[in-house]
Amino acid sequence: MKRSKLLVVGSVNTDMVVKTHCLPKPGETVLGGTFLMNGGGKGANQAVSAARLGADVSFICKVGNDTFGERAKKTFEDEGIDTSNLLFDPENASGVALITVDDRAENCIVVAPGANANLHASDIPDLPDLIKQADYVLMQLEIPMTTIQTVADIAHKKNIPVILNPAPAQKLSNNLLDKLFLITPNETEAEIISGVKVTDEESALQAAKKICDLGVACVVITLGKKGALIYKDSQHEIVPSIKVEAVDTTAAGDVFNGALAVGLMEKMPLKEAVRFACKAAAISVTRMGAQTSAPYRNEID
Ligand code: ADP
Repeated sequence: MKRSKLLVVGSVNTDMVVKTHCLPKPGETVLGGTFLMNGGGKGANQAVSAARLGADVSFICKVGNDTFGERAKKTFEDEGIDTSNLLFDPENASGVALITVDDRAENCIVVAPGANANLHASDIPDLPDLIKQADYVLMQLEIPMTTIQTVADIAHKKNIPVILNPAPAQKLSNNLLDKLFLITPNETEAEIISGVKVTDEESALQAAKKICDLGVACVVITLGKKGALIYKDSQHEIVPSIKVEAVDTTAAGDVFNGALAVGLMEKMPLKEAVRFACKAAAISVTRMGAQTSAPYRNEID
């Protein structure tokens, strides 16, 4: 059977995490505990999640010409991801996130986007062909908005469905929204896009309706441990999450999005694909880390 092709266009970061009893105040130095270095970046996390669940993933991204960039490329290759369009930036370093986590799991994060901020559509001359060969395109908001808009414009023209995970949260133009097949905000992102404060199922529904009115065909709002709300064709439905003992919810949304794309590419109806994504995300929150927590297909089946 021909595997469905997913084109992910997005970010790559290296997460550098230090555990500490308490977060430092401005000007303060605290002695921390263990240090961990993990693959991260929403684009990379979603590409890895989809690849582990069986999709044929091609990843357009940009890293620095440095050891982090080389390391990321090797990781993606080990995951079976096509890296022919992983670009090395001669001017900017690879994206990094400096993360401190205290005993109460509060964190402080600074992201240096580096090469991610320099990923431009003009870097990839055969972009229209790559999009045409894909069954779905999956993007997030950690690369320049002009790149996201160009990819969405081309995909829309070629009738290739685009899934946008609008994270980190920001307002989006109607010109982008009406090129999307599906948008997958969490509660905060849904609020920023729609202007409706999301606190419960009813307000999530109002936000989803507003977002659909802005031109997106389908909306899936993820509601953390409450699951996800689907809104399509003026109908809505809640898919509950799977009850698990969560130890680390980092990248739950990324695993959810990678899995949702796989489900849709396998022609599951939207509700079934969301259920599949909830299962994958639930497994991921029972494990530490971002990419490392993404489940393999046999764990879900
Ligand atoms: P984000 O990580 O982008 O903020 P959410 O917190 O909404 O996104 O989580 C995405 C999805 O992950 C949820 O829709 C749900 O399916 C799953 N999930 C998140 N937290 C839990 C949890 N504590 N238990 C089970 N599933 C969870």
